[in-house]
Amino acid sequence: MTVGWMGLGLMGERMVKRVAALGEDVVAYNRSPKAIRDLPSNVRLTSDPREAAQGCRLTFLMLADAAAVEAALFESGAIDGMEPGTVVVNMSTVGVEESIRFAERVERRGLGYVESPVLGTTKPAEEGKLVALVAGTEANVEAALPYLRTMAHVIHRLGNVGNGSAMKLMVNYLLAMSMLSLGEALAFAERAGFDVRTALDVLATSSVWPAVYGGKRGMIESGDFTPQFPVKHLAKDMRLFTEASERWRARTPIAGLAWDLLRRASAGPFADLDMAALCAWFRDDGQGQASDR
Ligand code: NAP
Repeated sequence: MTVGWMGLGLMGERMVKRVAALGEDVVAYNRSPKAIRDLPSNVRLTSDPREAAQGCRLTFLMLADAAAVEAALFESGAIDGMEPGTVVVNMSTVGVEESIRFAERVERRGLGYVESPVLGTTKPAEEGKLVALVAGTEANVEAALPYLRTMAHVIHRLGNVGNGSAMKLMVNYLLAMSMLSLGEALAFAERAGFDVRTALDVLATSSVWPAVYGGKRGMIESGDFTPQFPVKHLAKDMRLFTEASERWRARTPIAGLAWDLLRRASAGPFADLDMAALCAWFRDDGQGQASDR
């Protein structure tokens, strides 16, 4: 059996190697040409998404957002070449409604749809230590499970499609809050006359220091923001969180402010940097000038 894969970005190029290590042939699509180091010999790269769909009983998507899913899966015609019973496993982070709509369109064609956004970034992706937030029918999830298990060490089975996306957005809401708050705290400390290292030393001994700060500390101190999780994707997730909140009338007033900040941060050169760069953005507001906020 051939496995289809769409999306070889920061996460996808690492995750596809885990799937390939299971031994089956993999046809992996990426929109732009991609040179991947140590690509297993059973992975064939293609720039045609239809080739990652035709003849595959499972096709995994790890694409930027809903627009990318729309383009790669639907507009390309890839979905038209899928045989009945094929399961589409969407691991991209998309909105709750977006995922439900994708499932409806996929199922209308006699195909299966599983959503499985993931927690964890590039290193856990390499090591198979992601956390998968899986939703879909029992049979479709069972078909995807052996592959999900090689990518994720924790699998949450969350019921109907939409639930995985909701939980993913909940987690990334807190992630956004954590990074924005750290940026603001460090901007405050700097104006109080402290260097970043001293401020981080103090924070790291406090009870309000989450694991993500430990993971990003090196980047913040060095100023090397080579992306693991780019600001633009955090901004997208915050937008999706606020959209769902509004629809459900959830009481999330802080989210609007966070979305506004992330929208601004992702409008300029910070978009493609790692989210740790938000700490620098608070200091220069992305304009290369000290902020007077
Ligand atoms: P990424 O590096 O930005 O890669 C995005 C992928 O989507 C690339 O393969 C890109 O192709 C493709 N793409 C974008 N627009 C497209 C279009 N219109 N048509 C076809 N392909 C398109 O993203 P990532 O960091 O791997 O993340 C992938 C997804 O997982 C996102 O939804 C993200 O929010 C989520 N996620 C990321 C992390 C993380 O730590 N990075 C963690 C958990 C979840 P090109 O190469 O041609 O641009």
